[in-house]
Amino acid sequence: MSKLVQGYEVVIGFETHAQLSTNSKIFSRAPTAFGAEANTQACAVDMALPGTLPVMNIGAVERAIEFGLAINAHIAERSIFARKNYFYPDLPKGYQISQFEIPVVQGGEVSFFLEEGKETVRKTVRLERAHLEEDAGKSLHEDFIGQSGIDLNRAGTPLLEIVTRPDMSSSEEAVAYAKELHKIVTWIGICDGNMQEGSFRCDANVSVRKPGEPLGTRREIKNLNSFKFMQQAIDYEVRWQIDQIEDGHTIQQATVLFDPDTGETRAMRTKEDAADYRYFPDPDLPPLVIGRDWVERVKGEMAELPRVMAERFVKDYALPEYDATQLTQSKAVAAYFEATAKACGQAKLASNWIMGEVSRRLNASELSIEQAPVSAAQLAALIGRISDNTISNNAARQVFEGLWNQEGEVDAIIEAKGLKQMNDTGELEKIIDEVLAANPKNVEEFKAGNAKALNGLVGPIMKASKGKANPGQVNALLMKKLG
Ligand code: ADP
Ligand code: MG
Repeated sequence: MSKLVQGYEVVIGFETHAQLSTNSKIFSRAPTAFGAEANTQACAVDMALPGTLPVMNIGAVERAIEFGLAINAHIAERSIFARKNYFYPDLPKGYQISQFEIPVVQGGEVSFFLEEGKETVRKTVRLERAHLEEDAGKSLHEDFIGQSGIDLNRAGTPLLEIVTRPDMSSSEEAVAYAKELHKIVTWIGICDGNMQEGSFRCDANVSVRKPGEPLGTRREIKNLNSFKFMQQAIDYEVRWQIDQIEDGHTIQQATVLFDPDTGETRAMRTKEDAADYRYFPDPDLPPLVIGRDWVERVKGEMAELPRVMAERFVKDYALPEYDATQLTQSKAVAAYFEATAKACGQAKLASNWIMGEVSRRLNASELSIEQAPVSAAQLAALIGRISDNTISNNAARQVFEGLWNQEGEVDAIIEAKGLKQMNDTGELEKIIDEVLAANPKNVEEFKAGNAKALNGLVGPIMKASKGKANPGQVNALLMKKLG
């Protein structure tokens, strides 16, 4: 059941352009590196000089195959390149080479976890297709000299456009989908995922409807290049559409832009239909033929996929599915977890620490796990000292703090901070007797049946032991002494 906004159901479908990580362009040998001086990376093909012909980059096809395998899609044995015709100054050919009727990747799905209230639910978004296409150039508007220029460096950059079915029903779900997709393409290494540089940009198609009604008219928010803006843009768009409908207007299909400064979406143009582009098969390119042996070879060479790795974590380390998914957010996190779990033999504790304290600290200091000042070996040593009862969980957090601040190794920090748990029963019993003698009222209340009175005893005991008493042991001894 999807969550309603003011009685409306939200429907979202995504189109994502992932720039493929090839060194050269999709139909030419010009380089794709970002940030070069304008027009230094555009060759005759990219500039559409007469007589030039496109030649398919095999690396781009291979990346499309990898993506298809990663999301369990069908990889077409024969797909077709088409011309998408439109005029724009940064498109010298007058058309973009894309795929239309028969895309290379068909179907497939992306699944992820989503927090809904107190529950964590698994969501699956079905993909419609993913197709290969070329990027256009860029128009640069230099307002201060009142001129515009064209930079064709980006022209011909290989893109994989990944299109979902309208399966998402909230901005949170859309962002979770986009994050999962980002994880997949960067994990398999087909895209560098750099959103600021535009290597991974999303268009969100948004509509609303009353439950039970047919799909509403959608507006497409273009080029969202941060997860934060994605969420803000969709939330704004949903409210705007509902207001329009409540005020008696109808929604016009349109392409809109999100302005991060105002937090609003603004119509850019009314939506063209496929027919406006006069798609037709590109006579310059033969059909793209992908034999099963090629797919098999690519499959054999691919690294373990995140979902396969997550399944292995569940099986080999007896982790809950949720933990396994969180720990496979990136290869680096997964490697850190495996190293810790193997070294300490306590997979669930390792998982708790990594998803808890470690990621909290990393987030707070905006570090990635590769930059974590605490190594997997150190974390494993720390966990070892918790499970052999040398330190309490509380003390462990202080040790972790010490590790983070590079104060030394686990045992040295325990020693220096005097955090060793009191495992000497005699010493502890002495403290307990003193506290019992000093708090006769609590003792009486507890004996009269007030279980809460125990807290009034445990606190002073822990304090008197300077936090070094083992809480489990304190409880056991107290129970014994109080009958
Ligand atoms: P186009 O290529 O013209 O943008 P598509 O029909 O391929 O159009 O759809 C593009 C995206 O819009 C897809 O992700 C699809 O799931 C989504 N979509 C289609 N209809 C709706 C709708 N009524 N509401 C929200 N999203 C939609
Ligand atoms: Mg579209």
